[in-house]
Amino acid sequence: MAKLDEPLRNLLGARTAKVLATGLDLHTVGDLLHHYPRRYAQRGDLTDLDGLHEGEYVTVMAEVTKVQGRTIPRAPGYLLEVTVSDGHGDLGLTFFGRKGSYRAERELSPGTRGLFSGKVTVYRPRGGGRPRRQLTHPEFRPVAPSAAAGEMAREFAEEIIPIYPATKGLESWKIEECVQIVLPQLDLGPDPMPELTLKRHGFVGLAEAYRGIHKPRDWAELERARRRLKWDEAFVLQIALAQRRLAASALPAKARPRVEGGLLDAFDAALPFPLTEGQLEVGAEIAEDLSVEHPMHRLLQGDVGAGKTVVALRAMLQVVDGGGQAALLAPTEVLAQQHYRSITGMLGPLAQAGQIGGAETATRVALITGSQGAKARRQALLDVASGTAGIVVGTHALLEDQVQFADLGLVVVDEQHRFGVEQRDALRAKAGDGRPHVLVMTATPIPRTVAMTVFGDLEVSTLSQLPAGRAEIRTHVVPPERPKFLARTWERIREEAAQGRQAYIVCPRIGAQEGEEEGAPVLLGEDEDGARRRAPIAVLDLLPRLEEELLPGLRIGVLHGKLPPDDKDAVMRRFAAGELDVLLATTVIEVGVDVPNATVMVIMDADRFGVSQLHQLRGRVGRGTLPGLCLLVTDAEPGSRARERLDAVASTTDGFALSRLDLEQRREGDVLGAAQAGRASSLRLLTLLKDEELIRRAREEATVLVDADPELEGSPALAAELAALLDEERAGFLEKA
Ligand code: ADP
Ligand code: MG
Repeated sequence: MAKLDEPLRNLLGARTAKVLATGLDLHTVGDLLHHYPRRYAQRGDLTDLDGLHEGEYVTVMAEVTKVQGRTIPRAPGYLLEVTVSDGHGDLGLTFFGRKGSYRAERELSPGTRGLFSGKVTVYRPRGGGRPRRQLTHPEFRPVAPSAAAGEMAREFAEEIIPIYPATKGLESWKIEECVQIVLPQLDLGPDPMPELTLKRHGFVGLAEAYRGIHKPRDWAELERARRRLKWDEAFVLQIALAQRRLAASALPAKARPRVEGGLLDAFDAALPFPLTEGQLEVGAEIAEDLSVEHPMHRLLQGDVGAGKTVVALRAMLQVVDGGGQAALLAPTEVLAQQHYRSITGMLGPLAQAGQIGGAETATRVALITGSQGAKARRQALLDVASGTAGIVVGTHALLEDQVQFADLGLVVVDEQHRFGVEQRDALRAKAGDGRPHVLVMTATPIPRTVAMTVFGDLEVSTLSQLPAGRAEIRTHVVPPERPKFLARTWERIREEAAQGRQAYIVCPRIGAQEGEEEGAPVLLGEDEDGARRRAPIAVLDLLPRLEEELLPGLRIGVLHGKLPPDDKDAVMRRFAAGELDVLLATTVIEVGVDVPNATVMVIMDADRFGVSQLHQLRGRVGRGTLPGLCLLVTDAEPGSRARERLDAVASTTDGFALSRLDLEQRREGDVLGAAQAGRASSLRLLTLLKDEELIRRAREEATVLVDADPELEGSPALAAELAALLDEERAGFLEKA
């Protein structure tokens, strides 16, 4: 009998084991059993051949309609052409060889059904003619060699055949054979799930689940298997996260309770607007977190413009009042500069310690970036090390060894999705013995399930309401079939400029010099039909046209990631000061940039950006009391998927709805992000969008279990499964965060 960690070679022999190891990275019984079928076929159902993409390795169920052999002029050998069909479309199978030498010739004839496996290529006949999709030298296996009769025929037609993710040399049916050898020899030992959990949810046993997912007798059995296996994925992950939360909450940190009559009170008293209910609520949660002797671990999410920065600043002030320092880590230089400006601006005299006009309780704000001059940097480092600077704003440069804090009490990370966990750690390590409190801010609204898994070690606060009096943002698509709209776009910018307002124009590319830049956009280089398109519009190409032709006389500044940081800052400063009418930029302005006087956002080649990214960009306008206008310029045709995406963005300003849409269009791995890619491997069946309820229950039950038995001493089988997960993810997120 074989356990999950049994090497496959003991059951399948060295040769097969080697093929599985090199072809699919499967080494143990557990690896093979977790290589779940991608889908299931029935002999009665043929694969939709229209859905095949060039270059993909596929396995299809189809019926032979034609077999034709012919010799090739002036060449040795013989060509066998087989056509298979799904009842609508055709797929060609080509075999080269000697006449009479093919198994295909013997086994395939019109009416034969079979599984065919190979790489999809497209044959384009010279001199035109319809391109033909084909598999060259496919592997195949007839599945319905003869016509059976009556009930038997029906059963035969309905048998569920698993289709595995396969590669060349390891066809789906070969994997199936291996699984069928392994399954009967499986010895799983006691079920890792608590008895009570199994009963409560009516789950099938684990062995039954493995059988059901690999060789279901009917669809209901498959569904039961999937439910059980999904639960295990969710539950084990949530156990790991619950353990981490428990461990984190046991760590020591310095409590920074609110101090009366300090900076925070002075700041609140001087605020030009009332805080929203949400800001007050979240503010209270954070204040509470900060006043206990364990580190806060909180994610603050809120749509663009929801007022997260004020919330974070108030938290920072509470820590400064408590004698500590707060660091704000920004993902780009532009953002760090801007945070620095807006924080010093908001604090006014409260940030001018030791200066004339500075308030009595005042502190200082230091800025640390990679590009600042040696003198400025030395002063900043000094202020940080001595504790003179209560608030320190910076980019990754903050993580360098030379940056020493006097007493780091709070780390605020802006726009989490651009920071790896390592960075969070590096900063955390600067807090000396105790751990700093950590607040992570994100403007990409995170659906609950993602929050519960990817960010499962954080408590989540959400600012769901925008501050009152915020002007609306209208969004329009400027499509290829309405050229007048584009002319009108430039006219609108001129009109706004004439009234003293400002505009952004965003392009997907810098131009002139190629290459990635910080915060490179999700570029959709091919349209959804796979057709190559022209290169995206570039900043440096558009600039002369704007200057000479489209927006003559307007003051246009250029901002992109390849500019020296000083230039970037200078351009931003001039734009913020109203010395520029137009900022022509790449997506460096995506996050956080805040110029209330900017009213128009024009996005060129808008279809090349992701939905969330468009939403972020749009959030750069309508930030003051002036209404915002966002124009999505595209040459995507009506009815295309790109157009549907743009229409969706135009139709709602609900960031949560849009992030859901974005998520639906990406694969789970992308959602989890490169830094957390390791996590994706353990989520085989679980889909973050569809399994919300299951994930929620798993989280609840896992928390209860871990609170009662943190080390899982009472559930050794579960502890073993958890160890396996942690092992698999050793290089990933869980151990580092
Ligand atoms: P976020 O970082 O969430 O995108 P910000 O914190 O930058 O949003 O806030 C956006 C703008 O709204 C800023 O100009 C800020 O001063 C302003 N603001 C924040 N809170 C309020 C409020 N309660 N009432 C009015 N304006 C606010
Ligand atoms: Mg912000």
